[in-house]
Amino acid sequence: MGTFNILKTEIKCGNCDQVRPVVIQFRFGDTWQLVYQLGEKLIWGGNDIGKANLNVVNVYGYSGDNLCPHCNKFFEEEEFDIRIERDFITAVSAMKNYKKYRENEDDEYYEVND
Ligand SMILES: [Zn+2]
Repeated sequence: MGTFNILKTEIKCGNCDQVRPVVIQFRFGDTWQLVYQLGEKLIWGGNDIGKANLNVVNVYGYSGDNLCPHCNKFFEEEEFDIRIERDFITAVSAMKNYKKYRENEDDEYYEVND
């Protein structure tokens, strides 16, 4: 309850196009305040959410308020798609479609077939 993991990464600012840091919460894998970076492999075998070793999944990511250090634009409560391939965190992008999460039985993630 209320537990999540953290992805510390960088994304392109939608306002000034420069790269800015972002801290994203997600609930997939062993969920216990674990801190990941892009390219790392998820840990399983504890407070697991979802299934290990799926081909490609998008995991729902959420960050609180962020200020771009370059242009000072304020972004509130951003949502992301975190792409995970065979348990490796491979990419992160602005969330495209929340409906796909709702359609899955567990709305923290859905399997991608592309
Ligand atoms: Zn910016």
